[in-house]
Amino acid sequence: MATKNWKRTTVTSALPYANGPLHIGHLAGVYVPADIYVRYLRSKGEEVLFIGGSDEHGVPITIKARKEGITPQEVVDRYHRMIKDSFEKFGISFDIYSRTSNAIHHETASEFFTTMYEKGEFIEKTSLQYFDEEEQHFLADRYITGTCPHCGNPKAYGDQCESCGTSLSPNDLINPTSALSGNVPVKKETKHWYLPLDKYQDWLEKWIVEDHKDDWKPNVYGQCKSWLDHGLQPRAVTRDLDWGVNVPLPGTEGKVLYVWFDAPIGYISATREWGQIHGKDWKPWWKDDDTRLLHFIGKDNIVFHCIIFPAMLKEEGSFILPDNVPAFEFLNLEGEKISTTNNWAVWLHEYLEEFPKKQDVLRYTLTITAPETKDNDFTWKDFQARNNSELLAIFGNFVNRTLVLTQKYIDGKVPERGELNPTDQIALDEIKLFPSRIGGSLEQFRFRESLTELMNLARLGNKYLTDSEPWKIFKTDPERVKTILNISLEICANLAILCEPFLPFTADRLSRMMNLPQRKWAIAGNPELLEPGHLLGQPEHLFDRIEDSVIEAQVQKLHDTKKQNEADAAPVSNLKPMKETITYDDFTKLDIRICTVEAAEKVHGADKLLKLAVNTGHDTRTIVSGIAQYYKPEDLVGKQFCFIVNLAPRKLRGIESQGMILSAEDPEGKLSLITPQDLLENGSEVK
Ligand SMILES: [Zn+2]
Repeated sequence: MATKNWKRTTVTSALPYANGPLHIGHLAGVYVPADIYVRYLRSKGEEVLFIGGSDEHGVPITIKARKEGITPQEVVDRYHRMIKDSFEKFGISFDIYSRTSNAIHHETASEFFTTMYEKGEFIEKTSLQYFDEEEQHFLADRYITGTCPHCGNPKAYGDQCESCGTSLSPNDLINPTSALSGNVPVKKETKHWYLPLDKYQDWLEKWIVEDHKDDWKPNVYGQCKSWLDHGLQPRAVTRDLDWGVNVPLPGTEGKVLYVWFDAPIGYISATREWGQIHGKDWKPWWKDDDTRLLHFIGKDNIVFHCIIFPAMLKEEGSFILPDNVPAFEFLNLEGEKISTTNNWAVWLHEYLEEFPKKQDVLRYTLTITAPETKDNDFTWKDFQARNNSELLAIFGNFVNRTLVLTQKYIDGKVPERGELNPTDQIALDEIKLFPSRIGGSLEQFRFRESLTELMNLARLGNKYLTDSEPWKIFKTDPERVKTILNISLEICANLAILCEPFLPFTADRLSRMMNLPQRKWAIAGNPELLEPGHLLGQPEHLFDRIEDSVIEAQVQKLHDTKKQNEADAAPVSNLKPMKETITYDDFTKLDIRICTVEAAEKVHGADKLLKLAVNTGHDTRTIVSGIAQYYKPEDLVGKQFCFIVNLAPRKLRGIESQGMILSAEDPEGKLSLITPQDLLENGSEVK
């Protein structure tokens, strides 16, 4: 495809779900790359709008609210604030950070649904769904628990068993129970609207498989193709829930738009809100054909942004489609999957407290090891090495030596450049190449490569300064030292401009130290940025060494988490899982009666057994039971208990036992006999 001449770029980044704080996986997979890209475009003077916001609807939020005894709004208020704060502190430079509980979003999503509805784009379908009669509420899959048919876990959810990991539907559960009331739910008819994705199959195949074969990342293209190859199915866009965007149709109380349907519309709502706040027209950002739309997301969101949302946009009819969806793979932590529920994460709010003013160190590490094409691993050791041997030893060291030497030898002013030797000339020629190298990689969403190029400019400076050794020749050749420092300072000034998308805090500090008047991409690559005589600011250290003890403390923290997780995972109860459902007929096969023990004695040579003479009302018979550790024979005589009287006789220690006395066994294996509340006639039935 020929590259289009875009007039402006709308960049969206996945809406984080507002039921927990952010961790490094979020930054690495979506927000840092999106921010780098946006900062790069801004630096180039292009028109760009960077959209973000919290996704605040859906069942997990209602479950959290219920658990904590607060409202869903209180849950999302708490996490929206935390998430927004972390983004700001990490320099994620959104033009707007909105939220889907805002009125403008409800309005936008309703309008979107209504337009599609009026065009007849949805299929109406009635189906049977579990309903809690006491709460008068349909049950989302997560709100139904029961026994997993695969592993017997009695607390499996209607969508998944967390014990064995199997995906379930509520119909699979044995003994389904409503998580709202604890009652057995009933099935009831409910009506929903479906997006007929199958109808867009041909169009999507052409649009993705043919038209985006070359410009979409292989991981994105491959996942889309696999979905399309499996064939698309209609997908419900509404559900029975009381938290979300109400279905804008009459007679639909208690129904909301499914969160996957309303969340991506959140990008549009946020853009409208931005327009309101700044008195600008939002429409060109979503409706002009010369606007480039980019979605930055993690790989778990590919199908929504490449297949489902484009199908929605296409059918709604008035919006542009994404030009590219540069999705990232996942970041792991110390070799294991990041997990919010297991607290296996580096939380951003904790990092900010524990590593003050080191946002760029994390931004750097997460970019240089970004999970661009495959999953990648974050380790604290690597983080330390990236800081100490790259940022500090190369970038920081070069800048610091240059500025300190300039203060020392030339009173902090940019010196004149004298006659050039071949080394100088090579350095000056090289500087010119970096903006297009760094930018070229960025334009292809190759963030690691791009940041490596930036570091190569710092390496060039570091090597040039080290090889030229101005500190050795100052006494003998001060003119030569001026040239060396002039060229080194030009490299520093270029670094200040070119590092801004990646390391915005460092760029600010370096610009201050250089007293740089402006910092646009267009002026980078020029080795004449600084006028001779230009007064520099005070040098300070851009990066500090991170000591082993600091890293060890972080590793220890994770180690403690792991120990805690193992303790939490240990069974707190030996309760056996529930058995399979039986019919009433199965139950009535058992003949259970109240009988009186008339005599009891120990069985010779068997510690556990007692031999009982039992009056069943019909007869007196012998029953042998393994209760000798819990009951003395004399304590049983004359008392009534429950017995199964139609169990086939069997021999124990040579004595034929003609039935069984019933006892309850607690999880530790202790037995307790079952006694009626009142004295009954022998042979009374238990049912
Ligand atoms: Zn299971």
